[in-house]
Amino acid sequence: MGTQTYDAIVVGSGMSGGWAAKELCEKGLKTLVLERGQQLRHVTDYTTALKDPWQLPHNNRATNADKAAQPIQSTLYLYDQSTKGMFVDDNRYHYEQAKPFNWYRGYHVGGRSLMWSRHVFRFSDLDCGGVHSSDSVCQCARAAGRFGRRSRQADAAAVQP
Ligand SMILES: Cc1cc2nc3c(=O)[nH]c(=O)nc-3n(C[C@H](O)[C@H](O)[C@H](O)COP(=O)(O)OP(=O)(O)OC[C@H]3O[C@@H](n4cnc5c(N)ncnc54)[C@H](O)[C@@H]3O)c2cc1C
Repeated sequence: MGTQTYDAIVVGSGMSGGWAAKELCEKGLKTLVLERGQQLRHVTDYTTALKDPWQLPHNNRATNADKAAQPIQSTLYLYDQSTKGMFVDDNRYHYEQAKPFNWYRGYHVGGRSLMWSRHVFRFSDLDCGGVHSSDSVCQCARAAGRFGRRSRQADAAAVQP
């Protein structure tokens, strides 16, 4: 197998990695994205998306077996028969909790960009002028010239049906 070289390697293909890869590619860098999860084909692999509760097992409710297999993921308000396949197996992907922390995750191409609820919150001047203003995300984003651009693209994404 021949050796491949890349200008940049992005680990994870979720919102963060996907966006970083897009930016790097647009700057002309040869970019490799590494993703630990499975490929999910847009639309055709969303096999439960258009089903009604009565078309799903257990009228779309989580069972005790589901809760045992995914004790953290199953606490999420939208966890049910139609969504459980998008969430990790907690027993396989165990993590130490120094304090109680429910970490909801999906390991597949696109990460949680396939799972989020489409609420797009925009930072306000209040967020940017708070006590942490010297090192806030807002100031970093503004300094990088990304703030307005990202907002417009997020707005466009939010109005998609
Ligand atoms: C149910 C739900 C609803 C949400 N609703 C909203 C909302 O309405 N509004 C909002 O703003 N946010 C929402 N969020 C949060 C938002 O979806 C996440 O903050 C965001 O998608 C996280 O993006 P990320 O790229 O940081 O992580 P992820 O999307 O989790 O991406 C990480 C990627 O890295 C991969 N990966 C992990 N480890 C490795 C490794 N070692 N090697 C290779 N690949 C690896 C994973 O498989 C995954 O694809 C929601 C989240 C969930 C779960």
